[in-house]
Amino acid sequence: MRGARRGKTEDAVCGGLPRPEGFAGEEEGGFMYQAFLVKYGEIGLKGDNRHIFENALRSRVQEKLKPLGEYNVTREQGRIFVECPEGYDYEDTVEALGRVFGVSGFCPVEVIESTEWETVKRAVGDFVEKTYPLKNFTFKVAAKRADKQYPITSPEICAGVGEYLLDRFSELSVDVHAPQEVITVEIRNRAYVYSKVLAGPGGMPVGTSGKAMLLLSGGIDSPVAGYMVSKRGVELEATYFHAPPYTSERAKEKVVDLARIISRYTGPIRLHIVNFTDIQLAIYEKCPHEELTIIMRRYMMRIAEQFAKKDGCLSMITGESIGQVASQTMQSLLTTNAVCELPVFRPLIGFDKVEIIDIAKKIGTFETSILPYEDCCTIFVARHPVTKPILSVVEKSEELLCDVIDDLMKQALETTETIVVEP
Ligand code: ATP
Ligand code: MG
Repeated sequence: MRGARRGKTEDAVCGGLPRPEGFAGEEEGGFMYQAFLVKYGEIGLKGDNRHIFENALRSRVQEKLKPLGEYNVTREQGRIFVECPEGYDYEDTVEALGRVFGVSGFCPVEVIESTEWETVKRAVGDFVEKTYPLKNFTFKVAAKRADKQYPITSPEICAGVGEYLLDRFSELSVDVHAPQEVITVEIRNRAYVYSKVLAGPGGMPVGTSGKAMLLLSGGIDSPVAGYMVSKRGVELEATYFHAPPYTSERAKEKVVDLARIISRYTGPIRLHIVNFTDIQLAIYEKCPHEELTIIMRRYMMRIAEQFAKKDGCLSMITGESIGQVASQTMQSLLTTNAVCELPVFRPLIGFDKVEIIDIAKKIGTFETSILPYEDCCTIFVARHPVTKPILSVVEKSEELLCDVIDDLMKQALETTETIVVEP
């Protein structure tokens, strides 16, 4: 029988949910699950394209587990099965599966090699014996019979296994309407039994919805924005603007660290690091100071869009939210947006800061985001920035840059450092 060594003591992420109580799967001396059954929600609705989504999900699961060992990930009949290697780490596996977009939930399962009826019943009994130290709960049995040749029907499986469990464990009782535990038995070429569903992040597998360019700063919002769009199956690329020597190497490292944390969910991220100093200095020197931020934001969007188009991104992403700062009023967003041809997605647009912080904590970016390094946006700011910029006025102000801006843009594009950030 395969087994997993005991993992770390801290709580696994479990897709953001605490591990269920009385769940003996990873306890010292407890038995270990041999496999996980991965469930997906929305991709099941994709009709003829369904296999594309299922294959992508299988690949994403495989990629996430690869650093942990030789897992066998297969796709069969509306399910993805993960067979774990000898001595696998339960908590690391749970944590990794909790990071795969497209996974709605996953169940640690006990594999029953034979589907012989008496063997199945006994094995389900052993499963209950080992999984639940206390057996004073109500339950019902659910059955799925992928093998339609199997001589016992699903209702007969439920009734037969239920009866067996009641006979074997006198404290158990059945409640078919609101059971505390549902013991599910699936009959395929082998039999599987499980009773716990751990939460996955939901969404769609990365790679099924094209690629987008995230404007990634060192703040709290933009990593969350990237996470949210990527959750819908979108591959991420990112652009970061820094202004050395006004912004430090550590500020840049912080952004690379944030990209690395997001890449644990999204997969590798190509990160363009743009030296924005000379453009910022030119804006500072030539343009009205109350428009500094908005003009700077327009140049950021222009530059990021150039990389986006070159690399085949279909949209851009920012962490903006209406009214959060002067450059995120409706008028400011309109003025910034005016320079973009690609659609700009702002998944946080209706979120309050506290709601964004909640997500940042859940996905693990918050602690890095609040490290106190300077951002280029905060170096050159006016005391009284416009909150209701008028597009034509801002365009007029930008004309003051006409002598220098083409060269500066060219230089910024040419000196950009591009790295691939991986988990
Ligand atoms: P964040 O937490 O994302 O830094 P913020 O509240 O600081 O958000 P702003 O500084 O106004 O917001 O920036 C709005 C958006 O513009 C950010 O969410 C990000 O997408 C983009 N942005 C801002 N500064 C930079 C930067 N230095 N490099 C890349 N993108 C940036
Ligand atoms: Mg910021």
